[in-house]
Amino acid sequence: MRKENLLDKAQINYLNLHSDEVIDRLIKVIDARGLKNADICRLTWWPASKTSKILNKTQKPSATDLKLLAKAVGYTPEIFLLDNYDIRGYVLSDAIRCISDCVREVYAIDGTISSVDSIQDIVSYEMPLAIIDALNVEPTNYVTKSCIDEKYDEAEMTSSDSDEFVGEISVVLYHRNVTSYDGYTPYIQLLIDDKRNTTVVGLFLRDSEGHLDPKERKKFKNIILANDSDQEWNKLENSDSYWEKMKWSENEIESVIYSKSDIINHNIDKTINMDLSIMLDKYCELVFYLSKGIDIKERKTDITTKDIFSAITGNDFFSEETIAKVLRSRKNKCEIDPEHTSFIDEAGKPYMTVECLLPSFSGYPLEIIKSEANCICLCPNCAAQLRHGSRKDRERMFFTLYREHEAALRNQGVDLSLGDVLKLNEL
Ligand SMILES: [Zn+2]
Repeated sequence: MRKENLLDKAQINYLNLHSDEVIDRLIKVIDARGLKNADICRLTWWPASKTSKILNKTQKPSATDLKLLAKAVGYTPEIFLLDNYDIRGYVLSDAIRCISDCVREVYAIDGTISSVDSIQDIVSYEMPLAIIDALNVEPTNYVTKSCIDEKYDEAEMTSSDSDEFVGEISVVLYHRNVTSYDGYTPYIQLLIDDKRNTTVVGLFLRDSEGHLDPKERKKFKNIILANDSDQEWNKLENSDSYWEKMKWSENEIESVIYSKSDIINHNIDKTINMDLSIMLDKYCELVFYLSKGIDIKERKTDITTKDIFSAITGNDFFSEETIAKVLRSRKNKCEIDPEHTSFIDEAGKPYMTVECLLPSFSGYPLEIIKSEANCICLCPNCAAQLRHGSRKDRERMFFTLYREHEAALRNQGVDLSLGDVLKLNEL
């Protein structure tokens, strides 16, 4: 239940922020389906006046209006729609605050009292997602577990009669497929101490008993070239932390410790994400060592949802940068025949189009498909002829293009004969 409430909040923020874009997109869908205002009235149960005001854009729709309208025209209520396409994507950072904001909320620095209730959503939902987002890993590859440890200290309880939450907070993260090796379980953890004096981001390791022998700990610290955690700890010697150094360091392999003032004064806003990324790298190293060779490090490319959509539809395939680069290197000349002419575009240059030599679904990775080596620069006439010309003309054109691009493609590791290229282009 809580999760849904928070998701709603995030959606509402998103919709309020992007209401102009979303309504434009929905109006396009309504037009495309030939729906009339009366249809929309019936689907949404809005009065006719409201319907026409919203569709004529004289009334700004609320987030609820947008969700209802989206649902009425066939979308699920989760309309985290991206770009101008009917493709659903979800940008975590649009809906979830960054880690440091979440931590500050848990610290209740605005003077409010943080009760267990008030931080439950943040700790169990928003923080894990903020961490996943900061690490830029595939969310489905990682498991996160949050814990609000409400164990009150007896003495503390009697001396304090406020409702303020006292207890340890932790968010644990580990790769779904690598839980433990030889009884060792590595994990990344964000840990906030009982009284919120200290926050730790670190890499931890548990043996089957839940602890770690000091000798073993030292060995593992050496393997990943971990920093000296005593030094980290000493920075906080006077910070009145409720953690005992010994207790804290039981499973620690590497960590960065932030003081309360670091958190409150926004000193960690950028570094906490970086520190977590470093922990992830070391976590992957540790997994590599423990598993004797399993590499779980994700190597993300900059392929976006839009790219994948474009690959499916064949629209706007190359990035503006790639297109600009290709046009420059080909000097805005048609690769079939540099004498071909075209109209003059806004920039005062002969307009040329950039196409793929290997089509987007030829089975090669998008990095190769989108590479400069695969870009062909054609005059609009040749571009159309390459797809719609006679078989003979198309074969001749592909032959010319293949000769031009063969070497560059081979440099990318693509070794294809002319026959392969023709086949891939359905010739
Ligand atoms: Zn041409």
